[in-house]
Amino acid sequence: CGIFAYLNYLTPKTRQEVLDLLLQGLKRLEYRGYDSTGVAIDAPGESHDIIMVKRSGKVKVLEDAILEICQGTGYADAVNVHIGIAHTRWATHGVPSELNSHPQRSDEDNSFVVVHNGIITNYKDVKTLLEKRGYVFESETDTEVIAKLVHHLWQQHPGYTFGELVEQAIQQLEGAFAIAFKSKHFPGECVASRRGSPLLVGIKAKNKLATDHVPILYAKAHRPHGQQYQLLPSAAGADCSAEFQPLEDKEVEYFFASDA
Ligand code: GLU
Repeated sequence: CGIFAYLNYLTPKTRQEVLDLLLQGLKRLEYRGYDSTGVAIDAPGESHDIIMVKRSGKVKVLEDAILEICQGTGYADAVNVHIGIAHTRWATHGVPSELNSHPQRSDEDNSFVVVHNGIITNYKDVKTLLEKRGYVFESETDTEVIAKLVHHLWQQHPGYTFGELVEQAIQQLEGAFAIAFKSKHFPGECVASRRGSPLLVGIKAKNKLATDHVPILYAKAHRPHGQQYQLLPSAAGADCSAEFQPLEDKEVEYFFASDA
């Protein structure tokens, strides 16, 4: 299965272009094998609402659905800052279906959406806990607990940053994962995290690939220097999370890939 995410900061791109990049990324990951696919981007307009498109089957099926959606108004307008996340799923928990495909979400508002590679081994415990707090699950995946747990923490800790929320959540999760998060409550921000599973970040700053713009939040291992593409540092199984926000005056594009 694969994750592909793309963030553009101060580098104008239309939603059509972002979707095209996400599809290209997913196609590069197709060799891993998968059963369903999906993407999440910002809806046209200023609402910060999140649109998800998910399909069972090949990336081509998703592509056809996206081509149709792109005919709608607003998709050809350039935006300065945008986060798009995409996934090809290899089902471990729950049958391959549109509902079980990723991104998985926190609620019907798409407040927090996540793509995940790996397995959350204690998801049943977390799910029971969240159900007691009123959360209603719509998929059979282990992944859905991640989105709902972050939402729950966000309600409990309104002052937390997006990165702090994800950090708090993953401390309660067992298993291996690479994840990328997007939220309508943190527009223009993305949080990526990994434990065990690989997650690569490519950084393109003013037409050059740069390595000095990865804002590591928390890492047990040190990050390697001098590489054009760098692995968020958990090669030895350590945890690592990074919170991405627009940097003042910095034109940066980030590309995330995981083929766990
Ligand atoms: N365990 C997750 C699921 O079944 C993710 C599987 C994957 O890595 O694609 O949805």
